[in-house]
Formats: sequence, C-alpha cells, structure tokens
Amino acid sequence: MTQSEFAQQLGISKLTVSQWETGYRKPSSLASRAMMMLKELRGEDKTRKIVEEIKKRLDKLNTTYFNSQLEGNYQIQLSRRMRRTKAAALPEKKVIRLSISYLEKTKDKELDEILKHEMLHCYLYEKHRSWGHTKEVRNLLKQMEKEINNEPRTLFRENQGLNPSRRL
Ligand SMILES: [Zn+2]
Repeated sequence: MTQSEFAQQLGISKLTVSQWETGYRKPSSLASRAMMMLKELRGEDKTRKIVEEIKKRLDKLNTTYFNSQLEGNYQIQLSRRMRRTKAAALPEKKVIRLSISYLEKTKDKELDEILKHEMLHCYLYEKHRSWGHTKEVRNLLKQMEKEINNEPRTLFRENQGLNPSRRL
C-alpha cells in the first residue's frame, strides 16, 4: 500500500500522511494506530515481493542447474530467528527457509549459491538419496560453482553426468 492509497482510504491528504511519517505533524491516537497498520502492510508487501523474487530465482536455477528436475512448488519462508544459519532446507515439507538478517546483507550471486545448496538437498531428497552434508554433496556444490564461471550446463541431466542409481 502506498502513502497516497493509504491517505485515500483514510480520507485525508497525502501531505498529512507524509507529515506524520516525517514527524513534522503529530497524528491523533487513532491515526497513530492507522500508521502502525500502514507500516505492517508495507512490511508484508515487502516480504511478499522478496519471496516472489526468490521463487523466480529458484525457477531459474532449477532450469539452469537441475534440468528442471526439482519437483514440487517449494515454499519460501523468511525467518527472523535464524541468526547463525543462512538457510535451511526442509524437503519433507517442501520448504526452503532463509534468514532475514542474512538476506538483508547478501549479494545476488551469493544468494544464488545458498539457494543452489538448499536445492541440492531437496533434489537428493526427492531422488531418495542421502541428502545431508555428505562428501558427494560438497563435490556437487563445487562443480556447480565452476559452472557459474564457465558456460552453465545442467549437472543433473537424465542418464548423463551423475548416475542416479549410485548410492551416496
Ligand atoms: Zn546444507
């Protein structure tokens, strides 16, 4: 919700709203509560936009690196509580969770790395393979890193590259 949309809904001028926001004018208690609602709505808007953007990235990475083999519509959850961990995969729930404090300071390329890492866990889970931090997972991640600098090709083509029947 924008400032002007908010002003329109309250039936007040946009100038008043901006004066409240800058602290130039003090709103009434009712208006203060309305302001808090506005801030919450904006926060929700922002969160939704971030989640949408991450989902787009996920799709792109799925095509580029997983030959679109990562199934299911993964839900992106943003967590305020995650401080030490950047991200976590919960493939049983089809969830990839990301730390908000991490997202706030990360760069796009690094975010892709993190997403690929979590997607790899999910991919291996879907293929009923060991999906923890095995040596093979680490090797696959290294391979993916190389692909960024070279021509990207998918690591996970059927009957190509990785042998799906090989156990970890
Ligand atoms: Zn991991």
